[in-house]
Amino acid sequence: MISALKKRFQEQTLSAVDLYIKTLNAIDNKSGLNAFIYINKNGIKEAEKCQQNILNGNLVFVECTSRILEGIPIAVKDNFCTRNMPTTCASKTLQNFVPTYDAAVVDCLKSAGAVIVGKTNMDEFAMGSGTVDSAFGPTKNVWCSKPNKWHIAGGSSGGSCVAVASGMCEIALGSDTGGSIRNPASYCGIVGYKPSYGLISRHGLIPLVNSMDCPGIIAKTVDDIFKILSVIVRAKAYDSTCIDVCLDTDEFYNTTLIENYRIAIPEEYNCDSLSEEVKDTWNYVASVIDNSKAIVQKVSMPHTSASVATYSVLNACEVASNMARYTGLLYGYRSSCEHETFQSLIATNRFDSLGEVVRSRILSGNYFLLKRNYEKYYEQSLKVRRLIANDFNKVWQNGYNFLVTPTTLTTAPLLKDFKSLDNRTQCATQDYCTQPANMSGCPAITIPVKLSSDQMPISIQIMAPNFSDVRLLQFANWLEAKLQFSQKQ
Ligand code: GLN
Repeated sequence: MISALKKRFQEQTLSAVDLYIKTLNAIDNKSGLNAFIYINKNGIKEAEKCQQNILNGNLVFVECTSRILEGIPIAVKDNFCTRNMPTTCASKTLQNFVPTYDAAVVDCLKSAGAVIVGKTNMDEFAMGSGTVDSAFGPTKNVWCSKPNKWHIAGGSSGGSCVAVASGMCEIALGSDTGGSIRNPASYCGIVGYKPSYGLISRHGLIPLVNSMDCPGIIAKTVDDIFKILSVIVRAKAYDSTCIDVCLDTDEFYNTTLIENYRIAIPEEYNCDSLSEEVKDTWNYVASVIDNSKAIVQKVSMPHTSASVATYSVLNACEVASNMARYTGLLYGYRSSCEHETFQSLIATNRFDSLGEVVRSRILSGNYFLLKRNYEKYYEQSLKVRRLIANDFNKVWQNGYNFLVTPTTLTTAPLLKDFKSLDNRTQCATQDYCTQPANMSGCPAITIPVKLSSDQMPISIQIMAPNFSDVRLLQFANWLEAKLQFSQKQ
């Protein structure tokens, strides 16, 4: 936890430099999990400066200081721009891209004293739910049901989640468009938080679906998530969809309100593919909340099952336009072969450097956006998106404070079983519970609950009305304390 590390800095039983070296060693020792694409060995110089600040006592230990993360190593998903550090989106097309600026959230973390320890593995351009479709190979989950039986880490922020779950570092940044933080955090037995859309700047996050992308946080505790949120919420937006809000920190630490809360359990999340163990866990969590005197009631959200199909159309459309820039002329990989036509140069550049999942989404997106199809697919999907968002609005209007659902339908599948499915099938099951929150833009968090009979983590998802992020984290913090999940050692 951040507070434990800071305490050790203060007592001088650990220095920022020693912590950084320890982090690099842990990354090296666990390199077989393939969590990192790039490791920042130069970060040691920054850690030295942090240590100097700590020794000078530059207000580092005061909670509201601007340097509250002095000397804390943080891993960053490889779709956030990082100045002077490669940013590949796990794609061959960006293999040589070194941004000249930091994403707004990275800039904030650095200004608060954090040291970026490296860039983490992901599905190419964040398209996936397993971290199996990366140009750098798959990331492996740190949890195993049996020796040498590898499970997927979940995705697309699998590298960030494995970095935290395996103890390489305490905090990582991820991005969530359809579940890419919550899905892997759930499979890795840690906490993953997707903020309200528009709360945190997307500036410098390489886009997947602009209308749904959210930078988010991965940690072992809700308290750490809250600490990082209070830093990244300060980001200078450079993002027209971002609003300026002030977080009420007192609300986070106030637990007296729990019994006044009304919790909704949406029936439609109880779908055919939901495993018995996950269902039991969901019921168990509902009973824990019920015993605390908060009101727990079933509700209906009738458009839930349409979310994944609708998302796949909207996703492909936004992907088709976002990916149009990677022609190899201004951006992206350029083939060294001679080409007779301009078209063939671009086609070769794209074919040789983009994976099959990315290419198929570009093709379907362009098909949906054809003049003759636009209304039938794109506009209809926008309408269904509105119906899904309305399901959420009705729940909030009926006075419920939170929705509680499973995060994933099962525990992490075996890598070999998952790889045998096509990307569409993978995402259809993986994103079922997480995706609707992106349609509505509401904040959502996953926290681990218990281990399954084969020793794999099972988690629960909590969602709250848009911009009630602090209240969501407060409730998650309370629930986390009740559940007492023991993290992987
Ligand atoms: N699985 C979804 C997709 O492939 C979600 C990805 C994400 O949240 N980045 O589009």
